[in-house]
Amino acid sequence: MAAAEEAAIVRVRHCGPDIFCRRPPERCPACGCPLRGAALPAVPVRLPSPFRHGHRQRGAFLLRPTGAAAFLGGYDGNSDLHVGITNTNGLVYNYDEEGIHRDETGWEQCISIPLVQPDMFGLLHQWDKLLEEFSAGEAWLPHRYEEHDHNCYTYALAFINSVLTAQGKQQMSKSEFTEKFVIPQTKKASKYITLHQELTANEFYIVYHPDQEKQC
Ligand SMILES: [Zn+2]
Repeated sequence: MAAAEEAAIVRVRHCGPDIFCRRPPERCPACGCPLRGAALPAVPVRLPSPFRHGHRQRGAFLLRPTGAAAFLGGYDGNSDLHVGITNTNGLVYNYDEEGIHRDETGWEQCISIPLVQPDMFGLLHQWDKLLEEFSAGEAWLPHRYEEHDHNCYTYALAFINSVLTAQGKQQMSKSEFTEKFVIPQTKKASKYITLHQELTANEFYIVYHPDQEKQC
């Protein structure tokens, strides 16, 4: 399922509107003119996917839909997201009503927010130990779980704050972290999911810009 769902989305601009499709057509679906030999704007651009293979991210904050649905397959845009933190070997640490999990699979299509810059060797070196020690804390025993106040997000943010504190940096509140790091990524993801859904049902998805002059 993953391969088909991850099929690229390309954007073509010819006579004004944005045309989204899986593969560039012969003729512009908006005006019917041939695209071959058309000027530069018609060159198809592959849209970067906002999703990452979570088990290949080192020291990252990950989000994925709760349960079995993937962002590009079954996710309805409203259901809850589950979050986790990767160690440097692609294990995803996450907390739920069963306690701490160290997942080797299941996070193949995620929104990923890097927490460690690649040049922070000192922190990268200690990361796995810090994450393991933090996760062994009593706060993350199964019975402490509360759906709203002491959940996967509480766990991930508390770990991030423990690292910030150890580095002598200021802690972040949940709303601060969400607004600064999570929302910009979820907005991009949500646009991409819409395009993906449109292109599952139709060959093209054409977005007209209201004030644009027709160009051909
Ligand atoms: Zn056209």
